[in-house]
This record gives sequence, structure tokens and C-alpha cells, in this order.
Amino acid sequence: MKKHVIVVGAGPGGLTSAMILAHRGFKVTIFEKAPVVGGRNAPLTIGDFTFDTGPTFLMMSYILKEMFEETERNVEDYLKFTSLDPLYRLKFDDFEFSPSPGADKTREQIFRLFPGNEAGFSRFLNRERARYEHLFPCLQKDYHSYKAYLDPIFIKALPHLGLGKSIFDNLGSYFTPDDLKICFTFQSKYLGMSPWDCPALFTMLPFIEHEYGIYHVEGGLNAISRAMAKVVKEEGGTINTKTAVKSIIVENRKACGVELANGEKIVCDDVFINADFGYAASELFEPGLMKKYTDNKLKKMRFSCSTFMLYLAVDKKYDNLPHHSILFAQDYKKNVEQITKTLELPEDPSIYIQNASVTDNTLAPEGHSTIYILVPMMNTTSAEPWEDIVSSYREKVIDIAEKRGGFTGLADHIVGEKIITPRNWESDYNIYNGATFNLAHNFSQLLSFRPKNRFEEFDHCYLVGGGTHPGSGLPTIYESGRISSNSMCDYYGIPYKTPSKLELKKRI
Ligand SMILES: Cc1cc2nc3c(=O)[nH]c(=O)nc-3n(C[C@H](O)[C@H](O)[C@H](O)COP(=O)(O)OP(=O)(O)OC[C@H]3O[C@@H](n4cnc5c(N)ncnc54)[C@H](O)[C@@H]3O)c2cc1C
Repeated sequence: MKKHVIVVGAGPGGLTSAMILAHRGFKVTIFEKAPVVGGRNAPLTIGDFTFDTGPTFLMMSYILKEMFEETERNVEDYLKFTSLDPLYRLKFDDFEFSPSPGADKTREQIFRLFPGNEAGFSRFLNRERARYEHLFPCLQKDYHSYKAYLDPIFIKALPHLGLGKSIFDNLGSYFTPDDLKICFTFQSKYLGMSPWDCPALFTMLPFIEHEYGIYHVEGGLNAISRAMAKVVKEEGGTINTKTAVKSIIVENRKACGVELANGEKIVCDDVFINADFGYAASELFEPGLMKKYTDNKLKKMRFSCSTFMLYLAVDKKYDNLPHHSILFAQDYKKNVEQITKTLELPEDPSIYIQNASVTDNTLAPEGHSTIYILVPMMNTTSAEPWEDIVSSYREKVIDIAEKRGGFTGLADHIVGEKIITPRNWESDYNIYNGATFNLAHNFSQLLSFRPKNRFEEFDHCYLVGGGTHPGSGLPTIYESGRISSNSMCDYYGIPYKTPSKLELKKRI
């Protein structure tokens, strides 16, 4: 008889494992509390306008391709990709930098804006390529056992860890001006971290962008989750939306089923938890069951920052503005410290604006557009009274988009909108501390020090998503789905193709 796996949550991590496991012959049942699949990667609709709730940058599209190959499918039969050029517009008070994929145009811009630093860009690509080629295969491994550290792949990667250095320190070995270093380190925000704290090994992020590009997917990145859900169903899996799990049933420290919010109990052989890690550890198990991840331990762990979001349906198109813009605060370091350390509401925030309708006309009616604004923000460990300040902060952010971002007349063209505050992430999306990018990625919370894919608390229980190894961000979340699936297949003796046999190369 087929082994039955229950997956709690249909976010990118849950869907990846569900499609792989269904393909490998397991009976797979997903329970998702929301009405649609995707979690933070779900579509958000306002009338005829479709936004991505969260992710808008797809990097390493070849990893996504591999996940579909795991089920003997071609991702391009399901999704249409566009490589973005420029990658993004980085706007400071006194200059704009709009790098392109591939080195030549970017090197020329660096020469024009920061003469003398163009050689540093070539050094950056060469050295960081070596780091990526050594380190990424380590992230694809399972750290269930400490033996993983004895693997020659890991030992050869040790010199590339950049221990004791931050990503900002590391960029100092390539560039002189701080603003140029910021253009190659703001990517630590993808992990919800400060460039001055984020480990140097994450210089992989800007390297990957410059080497492999950034992609948009027609319909928005939420189309990826919808495509994965389609594969799950094609493989015979079942997806129950609007079905919240109240608790995970544990007997003799073995997960053996779930109790739904309506009281129904369903038994299974294994449980995959995709719900946010901190939320799941604190809410989905009977109090007192956790030995390691107790409430006290969770309070001591480090979590990412959060985001304040504006989704604006607009009766105008901004065809002269690029797909992604980042407008930096005048004092960027202070802004980062406010959201990660001092926990003060930034009076001069940095903001990210996605103008996806410039690339994709399926998102809004003709002549209209979707404007998505993300403001990195402190998480809910700060006591900010969001209900009281939400409307004045909304105005501040729209004003910045108009005056510094060039989105002229934005306020007058809004025909529909939605706002998500850090508190909404916590209460409506079940995200612990409203920390949208999950557990922080400091060394003490990486590899085997992150909650393990084969969850160390209970047998027959696996974690997938940004709160387990390898960490937050779509490609690594997809990897978590594959690592946990492989780990369970190891347990049952089911053969599969290991990631180390897959080539690291440009695939799409
Ligand atoms: C604003 C924002 C922007 C981001 N931008 C990017 C980006 O550009 N690129 C990138 O690579 N990454 C980005 N990320 C990070 C990351 O890729 C996404 O957050 C991703 O969706 C996380 O996937 P996940 O599988 O860990 O969990 P989630 O997407 O959170 O999925 C978990 C699922 O579990 C469900 N669930 C929770 N509790 C229960 C319950 N009790 N019962 C049943 N179901 C439950 C939830 O409803 C949800 O569907 C961004 C994140 C955010 C929030």
C-alpha cells in the first residue's frame, strides 16, 4: 500500500515536496488554510488586477527547472519566463545604477559612474563564481547528520565561507565607494538581514543575479505555485484549500496525523510541515511537547525583518519606468539599523517598487497597471501601533514613489489597493513575529544549526520552506522541498537522482 504523506501548507516548499513525492509514488494530501495555493507566493487580486503577494524576483530559474525535471516534466510547458534587462534600477539621491545581465554593459556603467572600479567588478565575478561553485552544492545537501561536514564537497568549500566577514566587508575587496558596495550588498535584505551583519558567503546572491539574471514569469511569480499545484494534481495528489490544520498528532514522539480546524482527524505515515517554522513550533503541537524548540528557545532565536506592503491598482501605465526599482534612503545604514536593531519606524525608508505591467500585460486591464511597493520594516518584536499609523505611512511611501521614484501622479491614479503591515503578516499569514523572510541567516542558524529537514523533534516529521535548511528565498525553498523528500525516500529505501549529480549550469 502507498505510504500516505500529509503536507501542512501549500506554499512553495510544500508544493515542491508534494509534486516530487506524488511522482515518486506516495499518496499526498495537502491541507492549506487559505482559499488559494502559494502562501507568501500566492496571487493577490484586486478586481481585474493580479499582484504577487510576496516574491517578485525569480533567481536561479534552473533550480525551478530541476524541480519539474524531478517529475519528468519541462517547466516551460507550464510557465513563460522573461529575463529582465535591466536587472533593476538602483536609485540614490545623486546617481542611478541599472545593471544588466551579463558583464559588459554593467562594467561600462561602473566605469562611467565610478571610474577605476570596473576592474573590481571583474574580480567580483571571478572570485564569487568560485565561491558559488563551491558553496551552492553544500546548500543542496542534507545536514540531518553531522557526517555531512566530512563530505569532501563541504571540506573543499570551507575556505569560501568567509567566516567572520560580512557581505559589506567582502565588497570592500572589490569596490571603494560605499554606494557602489551597497549596490552589491542590498541583496542581504532578501534574507531580511543587514549587509553589515549578513555573512559574506551570501555575496553569492548578487553574483547569481549578475551571472544568471533575474526572471519574471507571465502572470506573476505566483504562477509558479499554481503550476506546481497542477503537477501535484496530475500526479494524483489532493489539495484541500480553506482547510486549516489545528494540530499535528504525535504519539510516542512520532508524527502520525493531523487534526483539522473542524475537528476531523486524519492519520498518515509522515507529516511535512510547510507552515512558517516559528508559528508551527509554537502553535501546531500540544504545549510541552517540544524538547528543543520550546517557546523560550524560539524567543531567543533570531528572526528576519518584516515588510510594509502597498498593492496599488492604477488606471495609468508607467512605460518609461523599469520592472524593478529600489529607492535608497539618504542614510541607508541608519535605515537598515532602524529596522533590524533599534526597531524604530524609519522616517526616511528605502523602498522597492515593482512595475510589472511594463513587462507583462496579463496583470491589469489595458492602459492600467499594478504597482507593488515593499518597504523593509522591523518585525513585530517592536510594539509599533500599526492601526494608528498605517494611513500616514501609506502617504509617506506614495510620496517617495512619486518624488524620488518618478511615479508621477501615482496618488491620483489609484483605483484599488490593499495594505499588509507586519502585524497582518503575523495574524493573517501565520508568520511568527511577522518575520516575512523567516529565521535570520546568521551562522548559528545555518546548515545543521537551522531546524532540520528531518525534524529533530519527532520521527516521521519533515520541515520544508524558508525556516529549514537551506533557508529563505525561492530557489533554496525549492531545494528544501527536494532535500526533505529525498530524506524521506532514504528512510523508505526509495531511489532517486541526487542533486550532486545534477550539473550547475545555466539551464534556461
Ligand atoms: C513580501 C515578500 C517578498 C519576497 N520576495 C522574494 C523574492 O523576490 N524572491 C524570492 O526568492 N523570495 C522572496 N520572498 C521569500 C520567500 O520566497 C517567500 O516568502 C516564500 O513564499 C516562502 O515559502 P514557504 O514555502 O517557506 O512558505 P509560505 O509561502 O509562507 O507557505 C506556507 C503555507 O502554509 C499555510 N499555513 C500556515 N498555517 C497553516 C495551517 N495551520 N494549516 C494549513 N495551512 C497553513 C499558509 O497559508 C501558506 O500557504 C519574499 C517574501 C515576502 C513575504
